[in-house]
Amino acid sequence: MSSRPANVDLYSILGVSKSASNGEIKKAYHKLAKENHPDKNPKAGEKFKEISFAYEVLSNPEKREIYNRHGIQGLKEKSGRDGAFPGDIFEGFFGGFGGLFGDPFGFGGVRGGSRRQRGEDTLHPLKVTLEDLYNGKTTKLNLNKQVLCSKCDGLGGKPGATQACRGCNGRGMKITMRQLAPGMVQQMQTVCPDCHGEGEVIHEKDKCKACQGRKVIKENKILEVHIDKGMKDGQKIMFRGEGDQSPGVEPGDIIVVLQQKEHEFFVRQGINLICQHTIGITEALCGFSFTIKHLDGRDLVISNPAGDVISPGNMRRVLSEGMPLHKNPFERGDLIVKFNIEFPSNKFNTESRLKMLESFLPAREDDGPLPTGEHVEEVDMNDFDANHDQPGSRREAYHEDEDDDESGQPGMSNVQCAHQ
Ligand SMILES: [Zn+2]
Ligand SMILES: [Zn+2]
Repeated sequence: MSSRPANVDLYSILGVSKSASNGEIKKAYHKLAKENHPDKNPKAGEKFKEISFAYEVLSNPEKREIYNRHGIQGLKEKSGRDGAFPGDIFEGFFGGFGGLFGDPFGFGGVRGGSRRQRGEDTLHPLKVTLEDLYNGKTTKLNLNKQVLCSKCDGLGGKPGATQACRGCNGRGMKITMRQLAPGMVQQMQTVCPDCHGEGEVIHEKDKCKACQGRKVIKENKILEVHIDKGMKDGQKIMFRGEGDQSPGVEPGDIIVVLQQKEHEFFVRQGINLICQHTIGITEALCGFSFTIKHLDGRDLVISNPAGDVISPGNMRRVLSEGMPLHKNPFERGDLIVKFNIEFPSNKFNTESRLKMLESFLPAREDDGPLPTGEHVEEVDMNDFDANHDQPGSRREAYHEDEDDDESGQPGMSNVQCAHQ
């Protein structure tokens, strides 16, 4: 945002002349503040800020003088030097003025809602199954949200019951002076205690009964969430402006975030579905048929002809049986089947049957004669389970002994080492 604040005319914002008296400035401010209060006129939030800012400067003789001589830039520099305005508030008002420059004809049309204060977005995680994402689904989300009170239209009372707070002249903030040292005064802006920063008060008797003058009430609201075919984990579904409502604030969005639960059989990979299937060695060599229950309940019968050998880890593709494409659900990815082969247990291997089996299988590869001589050693193979027999585990016992040496008994380590 480009701020060229030197161009802003604070006098014209309040509609007074350069020679206006303090009384005239005050009067003009009260009139405009009333007309443009965000609660009466929610679109005027930015303008209200500008009016407040203009009044804050022009009602203060010192700031008015600086502004007359050096424009807003002068005020900004002074603010930087001695904190005449708390920096963030000053910047806040400048944000509003940034909007002014988009409007060459003055301050009438500060650009719409774009700069209006906006409520926070709310994220709602929604657990879905892979079936939901494949088939599509409509589900309901029950929200407890804050809405403007409909009895008083968010005013907190009858129209006109709201009055600008006298303690702060409707600004919600109060300027207090603090003497740092003789001749050095710091101005501090604090939240007005009379109106708690609201800038306005409603008399007890005028308060809306439905909301007790709070302007908002809690309400249950049910949102229908349409999960489209082909949506994916982490995808966001926006409900614009469905966030909590507050007076003068544009409500934020409700954002539903899909969280896919793990599926017991399929894994999604982009537009494809991956599954694993275990077959025996006979099926791997001699062909097979099996069924897969798909996500829409269909039984897919998948066959492999005899002689089309499947090796462990082989993958095969079934065209167009993967996930539907989002917004184009007649197009689909593929289903990929990864094969595990279960070999028969040792008990199968009686010698006579093995001889028979070998006669059907391809001939062994001939590696030539085994080597002989002194450097040749015949060794045994044992079972190995990577999960229970970590390489190097035998060395751990040795390390533990070392730890013992370090952990206590000073002066004994030599003795223990000697034992080993
Ligand atoms: Zn109300
Ligand atoms: Zn106040």
